[in-house]
Parts: sequence; structure tokens; C-alpha cells
Amino acid sequence: MTEPTHDEPHGGTLGARLNWLRAAVLGANDGIVSTAGLVVGVAGATESRSALLTAGLAGLLAGSMSMAAGEYVSVSTQRDSEMAALAVEKRELREQPEAELRELTELLEQRGLSREVAREAAEQLTARDALRAHARVELGIDPDELTNPWHAAWASFLSFTVGALLPLLAIVLPPAGWRLAVTVVSVLAALTLTGWSSARLGAAAPKRAVLRNVAGGALAMAVTYAAGSLLGAAGV
Ligand SMILES: [Zn+2]
Repeated sequence: MTEPTHDEPHGGTLGARLNWLRAAVLGANDGIVSTAGLVVGVAGATESRSALLTAGLAGLLAGSMSMAAGEYVSVSTQRDSEMAALAVEKRELREQPEAELRELTELLEQRGLSREVAREAAEQLTARDALRAHARVELGIDPDELTNPWHAAWASFLSFTVGALLPLLAIVLPPAGWRLAVTVVSVLAALTLTGWSSARLGAAAPKRAVLRNVAGGALAMAVTYAAGSLLGAAGV
């Protein structure tokens, strides 16, 4: 098995880079919402700064590691299946080069080239790098740009952490009387930004995306605050 020579996001196409950026924004959004819900819930029950800090930090670490592990597993699985497909292709190219050349010619024809041009193109592509040509045209993957699971995991970890730091700092830094207001306002402002960015990156209408995103965060904080207040009042 060969290691890819390029790693995202440096070597990727524009589309791949936008996907990375979008994943980072969504990861940050997750970190903001889940940590905000957590610390606001605890703030409903207690005024203790150390309890808030402990809960927020535990939530940050648990969330970022869970995101990283999930991303690692999913990208590894995808990469395994891409590598297996490449290995099959490599063997076919070695064992039946003529059939593979015909196959590539037909695939290029299906993409709109004339028979003669397709044959000529297939021969040139095969002469230069047959495996790469088959990977791209037949499998739709670039053998040099398989996603690295460690990079994907690390990116998830970082983006979630960056998002989670905002509600964590907003709840522990201000004086007790201000912490809820500061947290709610900064979280809703940040969710406006992440909602807008992810909509723009996904070419969707930003206004509705922002409203949904802000409403989701507000609901999460309202529910956990209510739950925390009930528990706090009951003296649990
Ligand atoms: Zn092939």
C-alpha cells in the first residue's frame, strides 16, 4: 500500500478545500451548541465557578474527542474501501491491459468524446499513468489525494474545541450576575456567524440557515437552563 503524497487541505481542489472549511465551521458550531447547553444548564443549578469550569472543560474534552474518534473511524473506512478498489484496479491493469484500455476508451466515449478521440486519449492517459487515469475516470477518486484519517480527526478535534471555548470562557470569566447574559449573547452571535458561513460555503440561502441555527442554539440553552434550574431548586 502506498502512502498518499499530498494531504488536504493543501493539495486539494477548490471543492475539497470548501468541504474542509465547511466541516470546520460545522465542528465549531457543534462545539458552541453542546458546550453552551452544558454550561448554561449547570449555571441554572449552581453559582459555583469551579463547577461551571469543570463541567465546561469536561464537555469540551469529551465532545472534541468523540468528534475526532468518529471522524477517524469514518474516514478510515472510506479510505480502506478506496484503497481496496485501487488494488483491484492495479491487478486488472497488470493482468488484462487490453480490456482495461477498452474500458477506459468506453468510459471516455460516454463522457462525450468520439470513438477515435476517446481511443487516443485513453492510450495517452494509459501511457502516462494508467492507474491514476482509471482511478479518476472509473472510480472517481484521486490516488494522490485520499483523505488522511489523522488529519480529519485532528481537524474535527480543533474545530470543536475552538467552538467550545467560547461558551466556556463566556460563562467562567464574567462576574456571577453577568455570566448568563454574556454567554447567551455571545453564543447567539457566534451561531449567527457559523450559520451564515456554512450556508455561504454550501451555496444555500443564509437568512434561513442563520435563523435555524440561532433558534437551535437558543432552544438548547433554554432546555438545559430549565432542567438545571429545576434540579438546583430541588436541591439535588
Ligand atoms: Zn479499469
